[in-house]
Amino acid sequence: MEKLLRGEISPLKLARTGARLQGKVALARLSRLLGCVESAGETVELMLEFSQDALGCSLVEGTLQLDVELLCQRCLEAFSSQLLVDVRLAFVASDKAVKSLPDGLEACVLVDGKVVLEALVEDELLLALPDVPLHPREVCPAGTKYEPKPTDENNPFAVLGQLKGKVN
Ligand SMILES: [Zn+2]
Repeated sequence: MEKLLRGEISPLKLARTGARLQGKVALARLSRLLGCVESAGETVELMLEFSQDALGCSLVEGTLQLDVELLCQRCLEAFSSQLLVDVRLAFVASDKAVKSLPDGLEACVLVDGKVVLEALVEDELLLALPDVPLHPREVCPAGTKYEPKPTDENNPFAVLGQLKGKVN
């Protein structure tokens, strides 16, 4: 059975030993995320591998997986989706240190060397939620009647590719 994980972790220590965290995080405590979805499964499945790169930077890479129901902004009906999130973060001790990271590497700022696992997971899931949730067009009851305007920085159609709805 998979472990239920919770609370503070020490990523720098985990990275030094090349630790791997595999298990589940209870969704009940992720209130920001729950406010953004229609409904969701009870747990997030996670697999996180901690490591240090050649420069001594502490990293985590892995995946998060969560079943959610989102509200289609075209037909206003809920639809099932699976969020599969690739995580790749570098841990830094302060906001200032974020600037020293190589381009393309996302930062997680630690407080006293620690971070609450639920907060890390919730932030990554929130980033992965589509700004404008939409059914795949073929299955949307509203069809082509209404087309929300994509926001500048986030094209909803890029996200559709990741949604595993009821298409197949
Ligand atoms: Zn729809």
